[in-house]
Amino acid sequence: MTLYPTLLWLALVALPPDAEIGAWATLRGVPVDVARAIASAETGNVAEPRLLRSMGNKPHRDNIIAQGGVGRMQVNPSVQWKRLGYRSRSEAVRALQNRHVNIYAGVLILAAFQRRYEPLTRSIHDCRCGRPHSWTAHYNGSKRMDSYGRRVVRKVELARYGNRRDW
Ligand SMILES: [Zn+2]
Repeated sequence: MTLYPTLLWLALVALPPDAEIGAWATLRGVPVDVARAIASAETGNVAEPRLLRSMGNKPHRDNIIAQGGVGRMQVNPSVQWKRLGYRSRSEAVRALQNRHVNIYAGVLILAAFQRRYEPLTRSIHDCRCGRPHSWTAHYNGSKRMDSYGRRVVRKVELARYGNRRDW
């Protein structure tokens, strides 16, 4: 790493998680509210590690491993370890339990899906793969991806327009 990215990294890791997600999303050209909605859809219901000492070894947002996904952004090391530059799956599992690594990897993966599937209209509702879902659905590659996409869209709209009924 050259000096500039190192300094950038140091600046970003000092941020609270949502701000860190926002910063990486901005740098990667991903809408900030989409990246945050993905994080929320993945681990929004899991505890924050704030009270780590009193939590003992309980899983929290940054170390949870569930259905093959690791950490806040639920990055799948089995699918992603090579692409992310790790020597093995287990090395990726360990590394991805670091919040900063996890956010960086999650946003990188989301940006790749965006490049591949976001329609030219930049609509969050549609996808270039031809299926009737939001391109964000691809972050969750499972059979439930359509409903996952709808959930992400709801979260983004809530962030953009709040609870207003007139939109
Ligand atoms: Zn699609």
